[in-house]
Amino acid sequence: MAQHSSAQDSEFAQAFRHQVLAWYDLHARRLPWRETHDPYRIWLSEIMLQQTRVAAVIAHYEEFLRRFPTLQKLASARESSVLAAWSGLGYYRRARMLHAAAKVIVKERDGTFPNSAKELQHLPGIGRYTSAAIASIAFREPVAVVDGNVERVLQRVSGRNLSQSQLWTCAQAMLDSSRPGDFNQAVMELGATVCTPRNPGCLTCPVVNVCAARGELQITGKAAPQQKRTIHYTLHQQDGKVCLVRRAKDATLMPDMWELPQISPASSQNNGSRTRIPDVRLLFTLRHSITVTDYTVRVWRLPASPDLAGKWFRAERLPQVALTGLTRKILRKAKILPLKTPSESKPV
Ligand code: SF4
Repeated sequence: MAQHSSAQDSEFAQAFRHQVLAWYDLHARRLPWRETHDPYRIWLSEIMLQQTRVAAVIAHYEEFLRRFPTLQKLASARESSVLAAWSGLGYYRRARMLHAAAKVIVKERDGTFPNSAKELQHLPGIGRYTSAAIASIAFREPVAVVDGNVERVLQRVSGRNLSQSQLWTCAQAMLDSSRPGDFNQAVMELGATVCTPRNPGCLTCPVVNVCAARGELQITGKAAPQQKRTIHYTLHQQDGKVCLVRRAKDATLMPDMWELPQISPASSQNNGSRTRIPDVRLLFTLRHSITVTDYTVRVWRLPASPDLAGKWFRAERLPQVALTGLTRKILRKAKILPLKTPSESKPV
């Protein structure tokens, strides 16, 4: 693209727009948030989709909307209920910001959703990408988005390793201003389903004739290697209740949420004494991954200690409790929580 004259650039952008939109019209995945122009629903989907796979979001999106069908319902909810509905999606800061922003809209804007990217950026948890996505999809504002998928497509199509500011300029220049929301989603969809990080599907790509790289561009930057860790939890059950502890309010990850008591490897082996206690039993092991760490999680049964600093919850109440994703996974494996909620059982 850099070697072209401006007339050629414009021709190139037109061809790209036309081809990517024609492809999107035929091949777009049917997703619940694409069936609406309601800014609340589009905003919710954009927040959920940050760092979470589409299939996982679909199940949680519908359940969340069942609990909080409107902005007003979300704004008036207790934070613990919002976190409970978010449980399983991870990155709970997103839920807290969503809740805080809903309160701002209701209290300070009389419930009127901001309708431009600029105004949206004043809300908690909404940055440049999210504001542009909501404004273009819900309000048809001609603003381009750049996320990881758009970045990869633009780098490859242009045949250059563009800087962040060049990427935003390039995306804006390529934007179809008559269909900005569709265009933004089309480029993201192309990156997610065809121009994938490894082995891009150039043979079936709708923009192959205008692509400089055709899969050959070496994108700079390496993914961080995964780390491995083993962690231990104890599962105490009594009279249909489970003992949970609350994470600190100022914890970096998942503050204020409930989890099983974590124990040291020594406790799991002999409960801290030299004599092996017969009641100590490994219940099961599972794997759990968070960003760059792969955890091996061992869940133990230990005798309940009188100074156990936790709170007992009845099993039926657990779906309403703000549990960490890992705790939910453990309780499902232990058959204390049902394997899947009804919405999660739907085919994707
Ligand atoms: S031709 Fe290949 S590299 Fe170029 S945009 Fe399409 S899938 Fe990506």
